[in-house]
Amino acid sequence: MVAELLAGNRRFVAGEFTQHLDYYKSIAASQTPSILWIGCSDSRVSEDVVTGSKPGTIFVHRNVANIVSFNDVNVAALVEYGITHLKIPDIVICGHTKCGGIRAIEEGVSENYIADWLLIAQGAKDKTDRIAAEQGLDLEQKLDLLARENIRLQIKHLNNISFIKRHKQKTGLPRVHGWLYAVETGQIEVIVDGTGEGSAVKS
Ligand SMILES: [Zn+2]
Repeated sequence: MVAELLAGNRRFVAGEFTQHLDYYKSIAASQTPSILWIGCSDSRVSEDVVTGSKPGTIFVHRNVANIVSFNDVNVAALVEYGITHLKIPDIVICGHTKCGGIRAIEEGVSENYIADWLLIAQGAKDKTDRIAAEQGLDLEQKLDLLARENIRLQIKHLNNISFIKRHKQKTGLPRVHGWLYAVETGQIEVIVDGTGEGSAVKS
């Protein structure tokens, strides 16, 4: 498999890179991405591919279940750099269907680090549990709802980070969008429209 990746790189250099040499030279000089993407690490959700974007478009952070934690220095540094230095106006938090992280939040896991990490999404599970009990949802419906509620919760977490709060008060940016990618169809559904009222998320 590793050899296949290197062979793929040689095809990329000979094909796409050479055909669009001016573009790749321009982004070699400096990057000016317009989107900051916080997605799941899942191998099926490749942000460049599913959005038809070229390298240089999306500044990326991915982790298990597309979680934003206020005490995660990694995501904090990425967001600060993306907004302050790269002047990125739009952040997308993208979850997806059939997410192993979402299923683990629902069913629980015994592994220490994974369980601790997923605790950050517990608020989404609590809300989903309530709605599922009221509406009599089955497991698949519940997992679908939990993926959506997790996106809303992580947007709330992001909007509550002090740096983001202050920047929004001063400039009105960044706009924060919530998307759900369906691995079954390849389609993206907008869960929270960061340009309108939908961005004012309530828990
Ligand atoms: Zn996932």
